[in-house]
Amino acid sequence: MRRLLVTSAILIGLMGCAGSSSSSPQNSDGVATLTGTQIASQNCVSGTVVADRAVNIVTTVAPITSIVSSIVGDTGTVITGLVPEGTNSHTFEPPPSAASVLEGADVVFINGLVLEEPTKNLAEANLRNGAVVCELATAVLPESDWIFDFSFPKSGGKPNPHLWTNPPMAIDYATVILDTLTHIDPANADAYKTNHEAFVAQIRSLDDATKVATATLPIESRKLVTYHDAYAYFARQYGWQVVGAIQPASFEEPTAKDVVALIRQVRSESVRAIFGSEVFPSPILEQIGKETGVTYVDVLRDDDLPGEPGSPEHSYAELMRFNFVTMVESLGGDATALNSLELANVPDKAKYPQ
Ligand SMILES: [Zn+2]
Repeated sequence: MRRLLVTSAILIGLMGCAGSSSSSPQNSDGVATLTGTQIASQNCVSGTVVADRAVNIVTTVAPITSIVSSIVGDTGTVITGLVPEGTNSHTFEPPPSAASVLEGADVVFINGLVLEEPTKNLAEANLRNGAVVCELATAVLPESDWIFDFSFPKSGGKPNPHLWTNPPMAIDYATVILDTLTHIDPANADAYKTNHEAFVAQIRSLDDATKVATATLPIESRKLVTYHDAYAYFARQYGWQVVGAIQPASFEEPTAKDVVALIRQVRSESVRAIFGSEVFPSPILEQIGKETGVTYVDVLRDDDLPGEPGSPEHSYAELMRFNFVTMVESLGGDATALNSLELANVPDKAKYPQ
């Protein structure tokens, strides 16, 4: 009997080891503790199952709304975006009317990594029992891979949140979305799975074309100076270098001293073009362009999808194609691989505030 107990204790110990992820840190008692990514992903699949009615989803920025919509397809699941396209999502404060939208949600998909704190707080104050806030970036990116940089310095405590500008990370978002929807809405599990497979195939083709287009640029040309600091994870994925971002952490205009430093950097790094966006128009870009003689391009879209809601080009994949083509062509490369991509998009019935 005694021997049996000992054997059981060893077995339980072994099972404990096998069950915990090898990457889990341990506390001082040697017990595995959950990482931030594990806590965030478990939270996404902790909602109450919805039966006999359509699922209600609320989202924040348009690229996330579009990715969710790709997985939802024509299941009848309702998606309502909260952040109007073309607004600064980093400083966005939800209007009081958002409280009632959030009250009706089964799941609120946000980017996380401290991008949408006011919306997250409003959601947590208004969600009904059994509804969840799913933080996509927090669920897919381990803290060791967070990037702190120009506009997102470590001292501010907010990592660069723009994972979606890196297509493979959009696939990671889509997989968390699939798991979350399958959990709360098992009746539509097959449809979500099929839509997820189609989205993954589409984004893999975008990823391949981005690699091909990048390869047409000599390494010394793959340098980005952007106004908004949205391409850190893209750059790490495809071997580009973010030389600098113009927008300070406060999201106000840079000081004269910052501008002088950037002009010096643009000259010393032989940067070929600098990039602004429609979301953040700034006269500073023109000034740096004039002083350095470098082309400035102010049409990147960051999180503002091309076209009108409901039109085929109004999608996450088309947004990324547009941004990457703009970068590659402005720096002297050939974006044919991206331009010739067939991006068949599913009908998108999500509500995108404008
Ligand atoms: Zn941004």
